[in-house]
Order: sequence, then structure tokens, then C-alpha cells
Amino acid sequence: MLKRYALFALLCVTGSAIAGEVHQHGVAQMTAAIEGNTATIEFTSPLENLIGFEHAPRNDKEHKMVQALKEKFHKPESLLTPTAAADCRADPVDLELPGDHESDGHAELHATIMYRCKSPAALKEINLRLFDVFPGLGRVKVQLAAPGRQSAVELSRKRPSLSW
Ligand SMILES: [Zn+2]
Repeated sequence: MLKRYALFALLCVTGSAIAGEVHQHGVAQMTAAIEGNTATIEFTSPLENLIGFEHAPRNDKEHKMVQALKEKFHKPESLLTPTAAADCRADPVDLELPGDHESDGHAELHATIMYRCKSPAALKEINLRLFDVFPGLGRVKVQLAAPGRQSAVELSRKRPSLSW
């Protein structure tokens, strides 16, 4: 009996840990790699956090919301803002959203953003203005790889700056 309970508990922990990594409403995942004159950011979030729904757009209003979301991520400087003095510009953003036929149930946005900086020595932080733009976003779990530093940080509205 005890054995069976232990196995059940183990399965629950494993299951929720995986679900938490992959898709949890209110939470987004991000990796940031700072190297040379570049900062590469991978950002993944449930669509729920960004537009309030995850089904395929059903009407004109929802289509417009998805379109507006894409436009925001194609100008990433206003969502994930590098230190101004570093003079960073983003390459064209690689943006993935679910197609109409895959979006039954949960759906996510995935963005790959690469900044190239003219004064990389001045690059000390990335400010997640995402929290101001998307009220449904509560926390971002970040894996940071910067020169001489690797860490996992959790950012929030109260603590929106990733620094190193
Ligand atoms: Zn979902």
C-alpha cells in the first residue's frame, strides 16, 4: 500500500513538473544568452497570458488581437528592452504561433529574438516591459547565460529587470 502511494506521488510530481515547464497560465519561459555583441532571447508563453484566449480566432475581433500581438513581437525593443547605452537592434524576429487547425486546447507563442549591440560592454540588463504590455502575464522564468554567469531567475511585475 505504501509502495503504491509512493509511486502515485512520484507520478504526480513528475507530471506537474513537466506541465509547469511546458505550459502554465500566467507564467512564461525565457532563455537569454549574452555573448560577444549579441543577446539572444527565446521566449515562450501560453497565448492566454498575451491575448486572453488560446483557441483559433473565431471572429474579426480575435483575428485583430492575434495580428496586433504579432506586430508587438516584431518590434521587440518595446517588450524586452536592452540597456539603451548598448545601442542594440533586433534582427527580424522568428515568431511561431499555432496554425488554425492545431489550436484546439492549449496554444503558445514562441519567439526568437536576437539583438546586435554596438556597445556590448554597456549591456547590463534587459527590462521586461512585457509585464506592462500584457496584464495576464504574472511571472517569467528565465535561464540566463551571461559572461561568467549562469543562473535561473524568476521575474515579475515587481521585479521586471534581468540584469547580470
Ligand atoms: Zn493554455
